[in-house]
Amino acid sequence: MTADTITAADSRINARWLIPVEPFGVVLEHQAVILQGSRIADVLPQSEADQKYRTRETVNLDRHVVMPGLINLHGHTAMSLFRGLADDLPLMTWLNDHIWPAEGRFVSEPFVLDGTRLAMAEMLRTGTTTFSDMYFFPEVTAQAAHDAGMRAQVCFPLMDMPTVWGSGPDEYLRKGAALIEQWQGDEYIMPAIGPHAPYTVSDQPLKDAVALAGKTGAAIQLHLHETAFEVDEAMKATGSRPVTRMAELGVLGRNTQCVHMTQIDDSDLEQLVRSGAHIVHCPESNLKLASGLCPVQTLMDHGINVTIGTDGAASNNDLDLFGELKTAAMVAKVVAGDASALSAHRALEMATLSGARALGREQELGSLVAGKLADLIAVDLSDPFLQPVYDPASHLVYSNHGRAVSHSWIHGVPQLQDGRLTRIDVPDLMLRVSEWRQQILS
Ligand SMILES: [Zn+2]
Repeated sequence: MTADTITAADSRINARWLIPVEPFGVVLEHQAVILQGSRIADVLPQSEADQKYRTRETVNLDRHVVMPGLINLHGHTAMSLFRGLADDLPLMTWLNDHIWPAEGRFVSEPFVLDGTRLAMAEMLRTGTTTFSDMYFFPEVTAQAAHDAGMRAQVCFPLMDMPTVWGSGPDEYLRKGAALIEQWQGDEYIMPAIGPHAPYTVSDQPLKDAVALAGKTGAAIQLHLHETAFEVDEAMKATGSRPVTRMAELGVLGRNTQCVHMTQIDDSDLEQLVRSGAHIVHCPESNLKLASGLCPVQTLMDHGINVTIGTDGAASNNDLDLFGELKTAAMVAKVVAGDASALSAHRALEMATLSGARALGREQELGSLVAGKLADLIAVDLSDPFLQPVYDPASHLVYSNHGRAVSHSWIHGVPQLQDGRLTRIDVPDLMLRVSEWRQQILS
C-alpha cells in the first residue's frame, strides 16, 4: 500500500468480536468498523484497516462484542414515571382502575418530556438506539428524542374517547397530521399513526387512519389481540375476530405493526401472511399481565416479520431489550415445544434487522454493513457473569443484561462512552423524576 491508497475517515472502532447480523449467524473476530460522518464506511479485519485507513480517533474495544444498535419497536416512554405504581393486576383492571385515572391526573407536556427523558436514559444505557413510542403529546416526545439524538418512531394516539391530548378522533387526526407534516423525511424521527386498539377505536377513525397512512406513507402501529378477553368480547359484539375486522377496514398492510398478537388461529395467520403486516412481540408485558403468549416461531415459519418491544415500563417493568430478548427466546421454546425455536442469532436479528424492516428502513438500519447509518453498540464481556466466552451470541441473549452495554453511537455520534451517557444530564433528570414521584404519591 502507498500513501495515496490510504483513506482518511473520522473514527475507527476496534472490536474483539463483531456480530454484523448481515450475513446472518456470523461472529467475526478482531474487526474494525470505520465511521465517516453519520455512516459506516467499512467493516474489515483490523490488519487490513491498518493498511487502508487513517482515522482521527480510534476506540479500542478489546473485551467487547460490537453489534448493531437495538430497535425497541413498542413502548409508551413517558409511562416510565409510573414504573412500579400498580402491579399484579389483570390488563383491564390495571388500565381502568390505575393507569387511566393516573394518566388523567398527571399527564401533561412536562410529564411527557421528563418521562421520555427517563426512558431514553434507560434505553441508551441498555443498548437501544431506536425506539417506537405511542403516547399523548407525541410532539413533545418527538422533539425530546430529536434533541437527544435518538432515533424514534413516534405514533400519535388515536381513540374514540377524549383524553388530555384531544377531544376525540377528529382532533387526534388533525394534530397527528400536523405531526407527520412536521417530521416527515427527518433522519431521526419517524412520525406514525397509533390507533390504540380495535376495542377503543371505531370503524370511521380507523378508515381515516388508513387514508392518512396512504396519503403520507406513515406507518400504523396498534395493539392487536393482546388478550383472549379482547377477542371474545369482539366476537360477542361484532361476530368477527379483531384481525378480520382490521383486515376488512384496510388497517393491515406492509406498513402496519401489530403489537402483541397473543391469540392467533388459522384464519388470523392466513390474514397476517396475506397482508404483509409486521408483529411486535412484547413477551414480558404479556407475561406480567397474564395476557397470553405470541407463537413467535410459528409466525416466523410462515414468513411473517416478527420484531420485539418492551412495552411501557408500567407493565414490564424495565426497558432493557437484552432482558426482553432472553425472555423471548425462553418463551418461544416453551410455546413451540422445541428447544431450537428462536435461536440466539435469530433473537439478535429480531431486535435489529427485523425492527428496521418493520420501520421500512432495512436499507439503512439494523446491521453493520458499509453504507448503512452508524447506529451501533458495544457490550463489555469481561464481567464475571459473562465469562468464559465460547460464543458471544449466546452470552448476548442468554447471559447478558443490558447494563453490560458500554458504548453506543447513533448516526455516528457517541451516545454512551464507558457506560456514561454523553447527551442526557442524569443528575438533573433524577431530580425531576424525584419531584414527579412526590406529586404522584400525594
Ligand atoms: Zn403497549
